[in-house]
Amino acid sequence: MYLLFVLFSILFSLGSSQLTANLYPNLEAGLATVTLELVNTAPSTVALLRWNLPLDNRFGSNSFLVQFNGHPVTYLGPVVKYFGPFLKDYVFISANQSITMDISLGDMYDFTLQGKYDVRFEADIMDYMVSQDMLSLFPREREAFTPFLGVVSNSLQITTHEYISPKAIKTPYPCSSQETSTLNTAAGAQKSMISYALSAINQGDTPTYKEWFGTYTSARGTTTSECISAITDNSVVAYACDDQAGVYAYVYPSDTSHTIYCCEAFWTAPNAGGFDTKAGTLIHELSHFSNLCGTNDWVYGVNGARNLAITNPSRAVANADNYEYFSEVQW
Ligand SMILES: [Zn+2]
Repeated sequence: MYLLFVLFSILFSLGSSQLTANLYPNLEAGLATVTLELVNTAPSTVALLRWNLPLDNRFGSNSFLVQFNGHPVTYLGPVVKYFGPFLKDYVFISANQSITMDISLGDMYDFTLQGKYDVRFEADIMDYMVSQDMLSLFPREREAFTPFLGVVSNSLQITTHEYISPKAIKTPYPCSSQETSTLNTAAGAQKSMISYALSAINQGDTPTYKEWFGTYTSARGTTTSECISAITDNSVVAYACDDQAGVYAYVYPSDTSHTIYCCEAFWTAPNAGGFDTKAGTLIHELSHFSNLCGTNDWVYGVNGARNLAITNPSRAVANADNYEYFSEVQW
């Protein structure tokens, strides 16, 4: 079963001729803006999940490698824990067609230094489908995702001649008294849950460790212990209430106030007990902050997290859902 998954992933990554990415300079739209073209060379329509792609997903995404003097610059946009997926979360590209999108990189990356930047689109498509009858594939479960790995564009050099101000972190939206009360309950459960997770991670190489973080090595064991300790010891946290549909929560990883923006799907999640709970979502979000753990969202969902532990443990120890689920099973 797992071997099949690995073979499937390799076949998908080798099949990159079905989807190619091209990056073009965009001189009209202004500084640090590029045009991304995704070309479908498959003989059928393809559907791409837009969650971690910069394709009108409402939030932007960390799907570019932007380097200044050979050093990656900081991603300043939000990272989002989505609910769903829904049909509207997919972009469809017909056979032998392409889509283009103008992308303002200055809204997502730190372009405050003047000079030459090297930019490349570099993303895994979290869910990629090829079908003659696309609608028959919906509704779609996140546990059934088929990823398309390693879509990489050409490199482009951008030269900036003036200061580009960094993207501001959104002003927090106030929470109602009822939301604040629900959040206090969730925060209490989060603190207990992370203390159970800390005890569990300090046991080292256990079946539960292996399930969520893969084969134990002392280096990866240290990464996971340090992350869970950092969340346990953290006392800086703030909550904001945004009403985004189809979203649990999001944060700006560079935000030192550790504000967690709670959204529609957060309020209907169970407080604790099971997966994708309120308390677990708070752990997921805290793990994103770059001065706590600096995790990414390489994959979402229980199956995705378990498979990542098998196929790519170094990503599993850097993936927010793996910390969430490891913590939630300790409850
Ligand atoms: Zn996340």
